[in-house]
Amino acid sequence: MMALSSSGEPMGSVFNIQRYSIHDGPGIRTVVFLKGCTLGCQWCANPESIHGFREVMFSPEKCIGCGLCVGLASNGEVEKDAAGTIVIHRERIRPSDLEWAEVCPSGALTVVGRRRGVQDVMNEVARDSLFFDRSGGGVTFSGGEPLLQPSFVASAAREAHRRGFNTVVETCGAVPLRAVECVINDIDLFLCDLKVLDPTVHQIATGGTNLLVRQTIEWISQQAPGRICVRTPLVPGVTMSLAQIDDNVAFLRKVGVRHYDVLPFHRLGSSKYAGLGLIYACSDMEPPPSEEVVAIRQRIRAAGLNTEFPEISVPDIGGRVLDR
Ligand code: SF4
Repeated sequence: MMALSSSGEPMGSVFNIQRYSIHDGPGIRTVVFLKGCTLGCQWCANPESIHGFREVMFSPEKCIGCGLCVGLASNGEVEKDAAGTIVIHRERIRPSDLEWAEVCPSGALTVVGRRRGVQDVMNEVARDSLFFDRSGGGVTFSGGEPLLQPSFVASAAREAHRRGFNTVVETCGAVPLRAVECVINDIDLFLCDLKVLDPTVHQIATGGTNLLVRQTIEWISQQAPGRICVRTPLVPGVTMSLAQIDDNVAFLRKVGVRHYDVLPFHRLGSSKYAGLGLIYACSDMEPPPSEEVVAIRQRIRAAGLNTEFPEISVPDIGGRVLDR
């Protein structure tokens, strides 16, 4: 059931709002990251997005040893060992009671995920309206999987349009159709992942089936042609082979998708795994050489698909004075 504020406004579980992004849709964009995902890709750059519940990230290098957290950890979530080092007991953490982490004065402990209302989120997004106006940018809803919170996304996107901002969703595609239907009228561009068509490889690499991914891509392409760009993360040894790219291209052409790009694997999110008490499975993996990425993009274009974002227009505001 959709979470509502006391005033009846939809609430979303948000873990970050990132400004000045140039890779998450056309122009300069502000990206609203929502918590919770339907997949668990080995190479995920946002591991704090995978679980829907609030989590605690620990950066020991920032700890000043004040002990405030230990004093408030009533369930033994954190303690100082004999050497005075802070030790987190993650199995004892209760997402509903994270006051012991919230008091940390140095930023060594941070709580990831917060319920926020549509107006609160969009007021923050609106700080960048000048950049949107000048670059053709707008707001992008990402995650995690933003369509796990479709009512919030639809409501926030409507508010974005009311303020004159265009809207993009980045989705893994592994969502029920009713979630896509919920937002289809409020989203100007869908950036949908297609990791790999082989169902076994997909299951092993992401922890989930790609049946819904195929269905989502096909449905959006039929309902909103020109409003979908499919992207494949180029993960060496997993998704990155010419045969797999050719398969993807054939599938996308068959279902009418015209925009397809690749995103080279990187390790920028790797340090977050340790902070969350997780193991990063791709620590030995190297990013693909740039010349191979260029060659794959040329191959996609040679097959008749466009590797650029589709044009999206700023919503028609009918000459109204915007209340941003
Ligand atoms: S509250 Fe923060 S700085 Fe103080 S001991 Fe705990 S982790 Fe370290």
